Amino acid sequence: MTGAVRDYFRGVWSAGVTIFDGMVVTLANFLRRPMTIQYPDRSPRPVVETLPVRYRGVLEVDPALCTACKLCENACPIGCIFIGIEKRDKVRGMTEFAVDAGKCMYCGLCVEPCPTGAIRMTPQFEGACEDLDGLVLRYVPEGAFVEPAKAKAALEAPTPPRGRLARSALARARRENAALRERLQGAVTARQAAGKAG
Ligand code: SF4
Ligand code: SF4
Repeated sequence: MTGAVRDYFRGVWSAGVTIFDGMVVTLANFLRRPMTIQYPDRSPRPVVETLPVRYRGVLEVDPALCTACKLCENACPIGCIFIGIEKRDKVRGMTEFAVDAGKCMYCGLCVEPCPTGAIRMTPQFEGACEDLDGLVLRYVPEGAFVEPAKAKAALEAPTPPRGRLARSALARARRENAALRERLQGAVTARQAAGKAG
C-alpha cells in the first residue's frame, strides 16, 4: 500500500472516529432533561436572586445615608458620578446624584472609600434600554434638595434591600427617557411641518 493510499484511509478512519465522538455527546445530551431556563418569565426563581452576594451589577446610592463627601465621585477613574451640591438659606444639600451606568465599568473603586455604605454594587443587571440616556441613574430626583446625612447616624440607619433603589432608578430613567424621546419627536415633527409650509 502506497503512502498516499494509507493517508487516505487514515483520514477516513479519523473522520469516522470524530463523527462517532460527536454523536456520543449528542446522544448523551439527547437523553438528559433539558436545562434551558426560559428567562425571564418562566425561571423558577428571579435570576437576580441566584447571583452571588458580591456580584457587581448596577451601582445604587441611598441618598439617606450619603454624607455628600464626594469621595466616590473623586475615586471614579472615568467620571461616571456627578454630585451637585448647593447652599440654600445657608443649608448645604445635594440637588443631584447621578451615576452614568452606561459608562460605568463596574470596577467598584467608588464603593471602597464610601464611609457609610451609601453607594454599593447590586445584583441588578437588567438595564437594557433603547438608548444610553436611559442608563443615567438619578438618585436625587430632579428638583429635590437632600441634606447630607451625619456619618455616625448613617452607619446605623436602615436601608432598602440591595438592588431596590437601582431598580427604581432604572425605571425612572426609562420613564424620563420616554418623555425626552417624545419631546425630541415633537421637535422633529414641528421642523418637518415648518419645512413643508416654507
Ligand atoms: S464602578 Fe468604577 S467606573 Fe463605575 S462609577 Fe464606580 S468607580 Fe466609576
Ligand atoms: S455615596 Fe458615600 S462616598 Fe459618595 S458622597 Fe455619599 S457618602 Fe460620600
